[in-house]
Amino acid sequence: MSKISIIGAAGTVGSSFGYHLAIQSIVDEIVYIDIPSKHSFTVGQVEDTNHALAYHSDTDVSCGEYADTENSDIIVITAGKPRQPGQNRIDLATDNTAILDSILDSLLEYNDDFISIITTNPVDLLNRYVFESGNRPRKSVLGFGGILDSARFRYTLSKTLSLPVTDIDATILGEHGDSQVPIFSQIKLPEDTTISFSIEEQESILSSLKESAMRVIEQKKATQWGPSAGLYHMVAAIIENKNQVLPCSVVLDGEYGLSDVSLGVPAHLDSAGMKEILEWNLSNSEEDALKKSAEKLDSEYALLK
Ligand code: NAD
Repeated sequence: MSKISIIGAAGTVGSSFGYHLAIQSIVDEIVYIDIPSKHSFTVGQVEDTNHALAYHSDTDVSCGEYADTENSDIIVITAGKPRQPGQNRIDLATDNTAILDSILDSLLEYNDDFISIITTNPVDLLNRYVFESGNRPRKSVLGFGGILDSARFRYTLSKTLSLPVTDIDATILGEHGDSQVPIFSQIKLPEDTTISFSIEEQESILSSLKESAMRVIEQKKATQWGPSAGLYHMVAAIIENKNQVLPCSVVLDGEYGLSDVSLGVPAHLDSAGMKEILEWNLSNSEEDALKKSAEKLDSEYALLK
């Protein structure tokens, strides 16, 4: 039996992810949780999701209280304030830390052995916060962001190189935010394709990537399908034990020469969460950028506490 709970499930990312996961029929049960004032809306999301499943899936989707999250394998937290046009992710830190505190108190009453996946922004700071304020192993305290950033990187490269996006293996490490690090040195393409990007071309791609989420927010108020599909891949890798390496925010303990910071790294996922962090052979400039990303996050974390 596999059980996933989604906290913030009435919202844009939570409900889209719930639908995406339910329709794939890879888990037995999904529990939707949101705030009491959104109860009726959450029930509506549950019913609508269930009506989508009859031809595809036997996943049972229900609306619950925190007691109903008991024995969850994975708890995905999408609860909290989203960015408004013009806002940085760090602008959400104070409000979303307080929201997260109340959620963790409720969750820990009913769960002690589970994998958390924080999606709420600023995700890297909040993932470190969850790790440091609890006593769960870091392998089960994960943050989501790098999978989405990497999807945006792959899409941009596919347009630039006129290649099918599924032929491109490319990853963003570091912060889910302005100090993200596109790993040009590890891009993998079909055998007969060679590429070389000048520093200016790399900077131009990075600058477009940094603005990509805000472009969507300005146009349709929120990012939705990108995060929900990425969350699905992350949860599927864990639940189905796919032996996959995906960029996830994890609290580091010496990897890449960094400690006591959570940021995106290549994480080998298994059914217990993060099995291992892979230490890729990065270029000097990528290593420097990763270090700067960690320093930025560390100084922001000091303000959070
Ligand atoms: P949203 O406003 O549509 O949904 C948030 C939901 O959280 C709402 O339904 C709200 O009622 C609920 N909520 C608030 N406080 C709660 C509490 N104490 N308990 C339970 N539920 C609570 O926002 P959204 O667009 O779905 O975004 C949610 C979060 O995810 C934001 O912080 C956003 O910045 C972040 N996000 C992260 C990524 C990523 O890649 N990490 C991508 C997109 C969005």
